[in-house]
Amino acid sequence: MALIAVICPYCQSDEAVVENGKSAEGEQRFRCQSEASQGRTFILNPSYPRRLPAIKQQG
Ligand SMILES: [Zn+2]
Repeated sequence: MALIAVICPYCQSDEAVVENGKSAEGEQRFRCQSEASQGRTFILNPSYPRRLPAIKQQG
């Protein structure tokens, strides 16, 4: 269904990812239908925090 290969952040597969409307911010939301991901939704966003080191900014 999705025209682009969207990798699910939960199971690292694009096999079961479908579009799932837009978020409140207007970002495309996806849902993974695989059993491993249990239908969880996620948003594909370049600024999405992934595996960032624990940086705490102070002041
Ligand atoms: Zn998944």
